[in-house]
Amino acid sequence: MHDSPVGGGRHLGVFCGSRDGNDDGVHALARELASAMVAADMGLVYGGAGIGVMGTLADAVLEAGGTAVGVVPVGLFSSEVPHGYLTELVEVPDMQARKRAMYERSDAFCALPGGFGTLEELFEAATWTQLGLHGSHKPVVLLDRNGFWSGLDEFLDRLVSDGFVRPESRGIVSRVTSVAEVLAVLDR
Ligand code: AMP
Repeated sequence: MHDSPVGGGRHLGVFCGSRDGNDDGVHALARELASAMVAADMGLVYGGAGIGVMGTLADAVLEAGGTAVGVVPVGLFSSEVPHGYLTELVEVPDMQARKRAMYERSDAFCALPGGFGTLEELFEAATWTQLGLHGSHKPVVLLDRNGFWSGLDEFLDRLVSDGFVRPESRGIVSRVTSVAEVLAVLDR
């Protein structure tokens, strides 16, 4: 895995809910992921918000002494309040630029539970990996909690069996059930 353009070490791009969801366990999982990332000297790249699961994750990374880089589209949405204490706040003009900046600064990706934005980002990142647009192989790991990603994982198998995804591309997106497995996938 190559060095990220930001700082020296590796960076994980995390996609996750801008809302809290109904399961406190998701926030506990976000905190667990944050601790493991900091222990592995892996920086966070994310959408820059201080709300929802995103906020929990960034807070936990910073509290553990880690690096959190937020990428925010300037003035696009009044609802998007950037996190106030990030290591680095990258301001971009629009959503496309945001995703490109997040992809460039990440060595791999992880999705925690979230909504439309989370799904959109993880699939675009996976598509770029499939097309070789990232410049290096950047896998997407779905970190599960309570089977949140099970249905999607089954559907991805269907994409292969129906002939729309090549079997060798299926592994670009994988579901794991522990934080340790997220880090293990990134070390492969
Ligand atoms: P969602 O899953 O719909 O809550 O969207 C979350 C994902 O989309 C995050 O990974 C962000 O990069 C982006 N996003 C969507 N809404 C916001 C928001 N209000 N503030 C910051 N990022 C957001």
